[in-house]
Amino acid sequence: MNFDWDDQQRSFRATVRDFLAANLPANWEELAHGPGSEAQSAFSKKFCGALAAAGLLVPHWPARWGGRDADPWTSFILAEEMWAAGEPRGGQYMNVNWIGPTLMSFGSREQQERYIPPMARGQTIWCQGFSEPESGSDLASLRTRADRKGDNYLINGQKIWTSYAGDADTCFLLARTAPGKGGISIFLLPMDTRGITVRQIPSIIGEGDIHEVFFDDVEVPASAMLGEEGQAWTIVGKALSLERVGIPRFALASRMLHRAVDILKREGRYGPGAIEQSARAHAACEATRLYSYNIIDQRCHGQVPGPEASAARFATVQAERLVAEFVVEHVPDALAGNHAMLLAHHQRAIVAGIASGAAEIQLNLIATELLELPREPR
Ligand SMILES: Cc1cc2nc3c(=O)[nH]c(=O)nc-3n(C[C@H](O)[C@H](O)[C@H](O)COP(=O)(O)OP(=O)(O)OC[C@H]3O[C@@H](n4cnc5c(N)ncnc54)[C@H](O)[C@@H]3O)c2cc1C
Repeated sequence: MNFDWDDQQRSFRATVRDFLAANLPANWEELAHGPGSEAQSAFSKKFCGALAAAGLLVPHWPARWGGRDADPWTSFILAEEMWAAGEPRGGQYMNVNWIGPTLMSFGSREQQERYIPPMARGQTIWCQGFSEPESGSDLASLRTRADRKGDNYLINGQKIWTSYAGDADTCFLLARTAPGKGGISIFLLPMDTRGITVRQIPSIIGEGDIHEVFFDDVEVPASAMLGEEGQAWTIVGKALSLERVGIPRFALASRMLHRAVDILKREGRYGPGAIEQSARAHAACEATRLYSYNIIDQRCHGQVPGPEASAARFATVQAERLVAEFVVEHVPDALAGNHAMLLAHHQRAIVAGIASGAAEIQLNLIATELLELPREPR
């Protein structure tokens, strides 16, 4: 494959970089980067509003919804630059990546008109209510119930590890309407609905990031359901395939690796051991980049990302971990409060193999679907 950026892509990347230079505060890298903190959520609304005004929030969305039908490379270049800068869009990357596009495909006209325009303006924060205390990797076993009551549903249960729930306007909620995998439905639930309680969980990745969310007789109209009863598994499968290839976390890992190497060079400590270890981490970041580009190329050719997306995601987790290990070993002072971005990256690398699905589950998918290894008989 002969790969290079064309002039238009180079120029788009330069535009995004110029935007970042003009719109990130001078002390951006020194700020606390807890992705779900109140400060970050408030900043992301301001920042995403400015991105939207510049036509840079959702360029890959259809023109009908405020985009300009740009190809998947454009959105990936945008995401790479955002992640390399520490993802100033905060929780709104989810709207841009998968919640908005999912509503475009499966939402009713009323849901689309209500929820998509504020996303395109960068004014709204969503949370993803999937995991429960007994249902993480095994999501199909979730127990939060939604029982039909006339024209409404009554929701009871609990979610956990919900990012951004403290500041979110709306929850993309999975709840059980019948037994089994085919009995799970999606509700678009305003977070100020009576009966919802949000409790913050202390977290390594910063104040305000993850939460428990309780639902006690939460009444929602049937029109809050996305798609039809029991359609969650199909819709979520498509939605998450967008998320898996949509997060170029390697861009931040790579930038942080270079920061750490610069520190060592400045201090005259970039010796053979550090060179070898940083080269391995660099190679992992670059391999991950190529894995991801391969998926974007498939998307450009109209192919739905297959099991290669799991390989790209697992490679990302590994690259982040290698960079984090390099920093711990060679510039540990940076993690003791001297360098907020390196610390933030380190914390993110620790949770990377758990958040948005455990890395081991990706390995299972790689084994069975990509390598076609036989499944162990049960
Ligand atoms: C920072 C952070 C943010 C998060 N944000 C959200 C959010 O916004 N919304 C949301 O719904 N959830 C969120 N999560 C939850 C996350 O999706 C789950 O933690 C994840 O899916 C794992 O589920 P679990 O915690 O129940 O662990 P479990 O599924 O119990 O897994 C525990 C361990 O067992 C291993 N394991 C489990 N099953 C298998 C298997 N079949 N094969 C091999 N190994 C296996 C796992 O890899 C893991 O190491 C977040 C988590 C974190 C850490």
